[in-house]
Amino acid sequence: MQIDMFTVLVQGGLSALLLGLIFLFYWAVDWRSSWLAWWSVPFFLAAIAAFAFTQWRDEPTYISVVIGNVALLLTFGCIWQAARVFERRRPILWPLGLATIGWVALCAWEPFMASLAARVIVASVLAAGFLWSAAVELWRGRKEQLVSRLPTVLILTLAGLVFALRIPLLWVLPFPFGALPLDPVAQSILNLMLFALAVALTILMISMTRERGEFEQRQYALTDPLTGLSNRRAFLDDGQRVVLRHKRQRLPLSLLMLDLDHFKSINDRYGHDAGDRVLVKFSSVLEANLRPADGIYRIGGEEFCCLLRDTGLEEALVVARRICTELEGGTVEAVGANIRVTVSVGVTSTAEAGYDLDELLAQADAAVYEAKARGRNMAVASGGDAVIGARALRSVLERRLLG
Ligand code: GH3
Ligand code: MG
Ligand code: MG
Repeated sequence: MQIDMFTVLVQGGLSALLLGLIFLFYWAVDWRSSWLAWWSVPFFLAAIAAFAFTQWRDEPTYISVVIGNVALLLTFGCIWQAARVFERRRPILWPLGLATIGWVALCAWEPFMASLAARVIVASVLAAGFLWSAAVELWRGRKEQLVSRLPTVLILTLAGLVFALRIPLLWVLPFPFGALPLDPVAQSILNLMLFALAVALTILMISMTRERGEFEQRQYALTDPLTGLSNRRAFLDDGQRVVLRHKRQRLPLSLLMLDLDHFKSINDRYGHDAGDRVLVKFSSVLEANLRPADGIYRIGGEEFCCLLRDTGLEEALVVARRICTELEGGTVEAVGANIRVTVSVGVTSTAEAGYDLDELLAQADAAVYEAKARGRNMAVASGGDAVIGARALRSVLERRLLG
């Protein structure tokens, strides 16, 4: 059976066109995901390349060698740029311009035009370089954990490898894999590989866009917009998990419940905006006094919770006390006044309440109530004494700093 190259190329070009249109369709639906528009560009360029390659007769023609290869090189260059835009980086266009000018200039030089090997080498270096650059861009963004990220990086790396391998295999394989005379079967295999790459990239990039959207929605649902802290829902989610983990590892876990004092009267006197600023200031005091691994949550209007990992009651009380002191010592600016604010803190730990989130919450809540009853602006431990001697305080603080 004869392989009809013209049909294979036209079919490849039309498929690339269709995939480009699919990206444009998804972009029209979700126009804020601007990278989707960028991802359509390489597919349109690939279509141009395929149609230009149909002009290849027994001898290479200007259209097939110059237009076809420039379009194909720009296809890979634009895959790199689209990956950059996906990672919210600016596209870098000069390497694409340089590759285009370089290729056109080389083609004007007769020995280059006459040497299939030379053309394969230059085209392979550029194609592999662009594809690997795209893989590196997506790999650099791996902090954003998307399920489809790793397969995309692997596929781009592998595609780059296929192009790079053409160089050592120059005199072993027929064109387009090497530089021996063109073989229609090899040409069809490469076309099929490029088609598979295009389909895989389309599926993976649209999946990554969806995964990013879902992740952002989830973050949105779990974050308090005013302070940027995690909210009550996040607390209930994390809390169960953290309690179970500490139970398994037999580690102590402490819970602070913090309620700002007379917050209603701050709102009444200085206005709601000033009240909001107090909440933001308080959240920064919490962040400054806790370790990054400790969870800080705004669970209600002026109520906050902190989960102190691997921390016993005594140490948690010290932290709570430090938060009280630091808040009391600072002020929040309001129109014509400096607002002073204090907080009451209830502290409990798994040694008191057991490894049960509801019981921890109940005991911390009772301790806050106790702190309010005793006059506010203090930390009270559940079922214990709020007062820690200065020496004990210092020794625990030192241990915490050293540890
Ligand atoms: P206590 O010392 O007994 O805790 O008194 P309080 O005034 O702090 O307690 P209360 O629960 O009576 O008042 C809480 C206030 O917090 C009431 C509500 O208007 C205010 N509040 C809740 N959410 C927000 C918010 O997002 N911004 C502002 N500015 N105020 C809020
Ligand atoms: Mg309250
Ligand atoms: Mg309050």
